[in-house]
Amino acid sequence: MTNEIAEGQNRSSSMERLRKLRKSIAEKELDALLISQPENLRYLSGFTGSGWLLISKQNTILAVDFLYEEQAKIESPGFEIIRIKQELHGWLPGLVSDLGWHKLGFEANLVSYDSHNRLSAAITARQINLELVPAAGIVEQLRSIKGPEELVLITKAARLADAAFEQANKMIRPGVTEKEIAWEIETILRQKGSEGVPFEIIVASGPNAALPHARPTEKAIRSGEPVLIDMGARIDGYCSDLSRTLFLGRANKTFQEIYDVVLKAQASAIEGTTSEMTASQADRLARTVIDQAGYGDAFGHGLGHGVGLAVHEFPRLGLSSSDSLADGMVFTLEPGIYLAGQGGVRIEDMAVLENGRLRVLSKAEK
Ligand code: ZN
Repeated sequence: MTNEIAEGQNRSSSMERLRKLRKSIAEKELDALLISQPENLRYLSGFTGSGWLLISKQNTILAVDFLYEEQAKIESPGFEIIRIKQELHGWLPGLVSDLGWHKLGFEANLVSYDSHNRLSAAITARQINLELVPAAGIVEQLRSIKGPEELVLITKAARLADAAFEQANKMIRPGVTEKEIAWEIETILRQKGSEGVPFEIIVASGPNAALPHARPTEKAIRSGEPVLIDMGARIDGYCSDLSRTLFLGRANKTFQEIYDVVLKAQASAIEGTTSEMTASQADRLARTVIDQAGYGDAFGHGLGHGVGLAVHEFPRLGLSSSDSLADGMVFTLEPGIYLAGQGGVRIEDMAVLENGRLRVLSKAEK
């Protein structure tokens, strides 16, 4: 693909995203939306730096300071780039009153209490008729449904994680430390073209594998104990997420059993999840298998999470999730069983909802 074609595609997908966003803004009866969440900025404008995006029916304004001005011009052609010097309360009220907006949505999960206070004070002091409306998650909802161009990149990132896992798998033997394996995986990922790693790689062996978010230690791998590896790659901003649990030599009876239960739980979710379901119904498919095997208390996290520009995004698949599933969503299915003091098993694949059913993207051997 030539750069011009790629750029043309980027621009048309950006137009389509803005069209959908404007529809949501209108539905929420807002005049405009203020956005600063980095992945949201990138999704809507292509801009990868830090700044503020203001989207209204007519405007697409990207406000950045001196450090990012040139980058914004290059990455976000078609956006009105304005240079800002002060904090939000210093420049936003004047701009908003010039544009005649009265209801401005903002990412309530990102704007700090302090900046909100100062912004409100500046609006009052200038006697501007502007209401700040908490509006978190609007762009995140759009991001949860992937377009074909996004799926291409996510699939590449998934392939890269598969390949790095399989290559690193060969160096895993008794005596090698968790940290050495983690570094080897990171090296392979970077050599194969990953943009760094989207999250710190987990290599947890023996009792450490009972900690779902363990950090790699100096502990050497021993024969017969579980080794839990959780890793991902990033391509053009898009992430992948993959977990495998392996045993060197023979696993003991308990671990053979829990491995089979986790695998069955995952298969049940992969086969049974449909785009008509809620995220908590999908979670239930896997959880029931683990509950029935008697390990319900040892599966203390949700079934999975959306993956895209962020490694954790909508939808959230868990018992208490209120998200609904839909075609175009990409998420992980990662049931696990963790036995304190002994170790744990987690198996994680990424899948996309297509024509109502799941298609698994991860190919690494289980
Ligand atoms: Zn994950």
